[in-house]
Amino acid sequence: MQSVSPSIPFVDLAPLHQPIQSQIEQAIQGVLQRGDYVMGQSVLEFEQAFSKACSVSHGVGVACGTDAIALGLQACGIAQGDEVLLPANTFVATLIGVLRCGATPVLVDCDPKTALIDLAAAERAITPRTRAIVPVHLYGQMVSPSLLRDLAHTYELIIFEDAAQAHLAEREGVRAGAIGLAAAFSFYPSKNLGALGDGGMVVTKDEAIAHKVRTLRNYGAPRKYFHTEFGTNSRLDSIQAAILNVKLPHLKSWNRDRAQIAEQYNALLKPLLSRGLMPISNLSGKGHVYHLYVMRVMQDQAESIDRETLQNRLEAQGIQTGIHYPLPCHLQPAFKHLGYREGAFPVAENLCKEILSLPMYPGMSEAQVIQVVGAIEESLATPAAVKMSA
Ligand SMILES: *Cc1c(COP(=O)(O)O)cnc(C)c1O
Repeated sequence: MQSVSPSIPFVDLAPLHQPIQSQIEQAIQGVLQRGDYVMGQSVLEFEQAFSKACSVSHGVGVACGTDAIALGLQACGIAQGDEVLLPANTFVATLIGVLRCGATPVLVDCDPKTALIDLAAAERAITPRTRAIVPVHLYGQMVSPSLLRDLAHTYELIIFEDAAQAHLAEREGVRAGAIGLAAAFSFYPSKNLGALGDGGMVVTKDEAIAHKVRTLRNYGAPRKYFHTEFGTNSRLDSIQAAILNVKLPHLKSWNRDRAQIAEQYNALLKPLLSRGLMPISNLSGKGHVYHLYVMRVMQDQAESIDRETLQNRLEAQGIQTGIHYPLPCHLQPAFKHLGYREGAFPVAENLCKEILSLPMYPGMSEAQVIQVVGAIEESLATPAAVKMSA
């Protein structure tokens, strides 16, 4: 297929960084001049600014989102023998974090429309050993705070949010990170708020938990050369924090950009609903921060082509797409020992086969959105010669 339109990457961070490049350079210079490379002034500033933006009183910077989950859960007192509920369809880091704090992960299926954890299924999985639930605000849409709190209240569970995809998301007037006891964020470059490298944070309303994460991230030492915990070295770099301080004031407007792009996709894709394409539902309204824009290529619809064919045809037209995620956690070879079999979580497994993430980044133009949907229409119009069941 010959394409004359310029190609569209899945994510392009250049339009986001270009306007603030000199500020970023200045921030890096600042760290260089002060020489406070580790646990510098910029880390403290960013911890205060970001936790405040999340409507939470404490923030503790760590090396990455995975560490934020592992150390955050550990600081909440989750340990060996405790069962922790989490969705089967999440990035594998959620599961790694739960395993690293020593707890027993208990995976739960998801809702087919929103792809968020199915709270009724979570309730059925509760046992006397269940201590916590780790809801994942997948793709930027929050799990309902009120339903989570009801469940946690009834069964005396700790809520620890994986908010790695939901910076400043909101639902029912509650910010991501502010629902429960504590939450984890990631600042991986392509997240809604990204560093120019790795970074993460635990946010919490609880002073004692914040103190414990501060200790754990610093070799388990509340003061120098005095160790009260079996800690590790997991700190947010001063340089990354300085960069994040420059970027944070822009986050709201970048999220608005994403929401606008999502609205354009929603409107343009509507006519394709009857042809087997269905965007993942947004039940949280304006609070959805669209880390990703995901649609399903419905496999049970006669007219629809399969996801792989669509993805390949888009690629041929210069449109990059992604799959988040192609293989659910419980079927990953590394976690075979957890004992889950294929068929254990039918909704999550089916979603893995149907989902396709479309290009989405602040600064993506309406013309580009139109080009993506045009390419999808063209792909559908071509008979699916390679469809196995045809
Ligand atoms: C990115 C991500 C993480 C892990 O964050 P890292 O900073 O890459 O360690 C955890 N959970 C979810 C849902 C994520 O998207």
